[in-house]
Amino acid sequence: GKRTIVLTGTSSGLGKATLKALCARGDNFVICGVRDMEKMQAVAEELGLDPSSYTIRPLDLSSFASVRRFAKEVKAVKGGKPLDALVCNAAVYLPARDYPTFTPDGIEESLQINHLSHFLLVSLLLDDLKKAKDPRCVIVGSITGNDNTIAGAFVWPRASLGDLKGMQEGAKEPVSMIDGKDFNGAKAYKDSKMCNMMTVNELHKRYHDATGITFSSMYPGCIAETALFREKRQWFRTLFPLFMKYVTGGYVSENEAGERLAQTVWDPALKTSGQYWCWNGQAQQFGYYDPATKQVRGAGGSGGTVFPGKLAGQVMDQTKAEKMWELSSEITGAT
Ligand code: NDP
Repeated sequence: GKRTIVLTGTSSGLGKATLKALCARGDNFVICGVRDMEKMQAVAEELGLDPSSYTIRPLDLSSFASVRRFAKEVKAVKGGKPLDALVCNAAVYLPARDYPTFTPDGIEESLQINHLSHFLLVSLLLDDLKKAKDPRCVIVGSITGNDNTIAGAFVWPRASLGDLKGMQEGAKEPVSMIDGKDFNGAKAYKDSKMCNMMTVNELHKRYHDATGITFSSMYPGCIAETALFREKRQWFRTLFPLFMKYVTGGYVSENEAGERLAQTVWDPALKTSGQYWCWNGQAQQFGYYDPATKQVRGAGGSGGTVFPGKLAGQVMDQTKAEKMWELSSEITGAT
């Protein structure tokens, strides 16, 4: 039979391209978790998807209740069959706001949508994954949350969880940042991506040996044309893809990025758990410095082959990751 795959945020950008790539392989059945069912129906029609290769279920990541309902629906759709893969892709990026916006649960939007709700979703579906033959659990990361890359470290503001004071206080309005400091939308996004990558490392550490699940994160490259940048000014949205393509070399098309994320689910070569996958394009700026070879390894950009990227700095801080894990469990009620 087909492999059953849960994918969040399939109505746009990377998620949409990944859905297309997975369905084109013919051996996958994708459960699409989206906040806007009608939009998704139109997208599925536009892509001309085979109705036997997907189904759509409502998932609003700004509500823990919705995440719990979605997990139940996933179990119902599978009807006792194992879940082969869970791919956490959806995210918001809110750099233009000078004040925080809060979800119905009273949590800053990027923190809940990008990190906390996916954290909860993974915990709710872990048992179903465990039963599959080659289970994969992928959370999309980003260089912007990896503070050893040139782009991650030198493009202000930097991701930093500080001492997690904001989370310690419960991460509820008026608290908006994980470090408890004043709101900064671009930083809130980077912090949430940092949590995504730390979560994968912790999942690997805590559950890989016992469950056989392959946990991984990945950096798709700079997909400069997705709606992620919807809040940026028009001049930025016009020039950014060109800059990425011709100046930094970090640009990757939605289709190619979608093939990459899909690859983390099916490729036997990507079965090693606990990895942060990158593709060896030409974008030196988005690479990382490898002290062993004293070279910067390019990551992002079009073309090239997949390789295990190196995470360093705060993302690899064990004490911080454990604290982040404990606090995320408390806030979401994940067990
Ligand atoms: P898009 O904005 O195009 O897609 C984001 C998706 O998330 C959309 O489908 C959106 O739904 C969905 N979403 C947003 N909020 C919610 C919510 N509350 N509940 C459910 N779904 C929601 O961005 P990208 O495709 O670029 O981003 C996808 C992933 O790739 C993210 O994890 C991002 O961090 C990562 N990434 C992107 C890079 C890039 O250069 N673009 C680089 C590195 C990483 P809707 O269609 O309804 O808006």
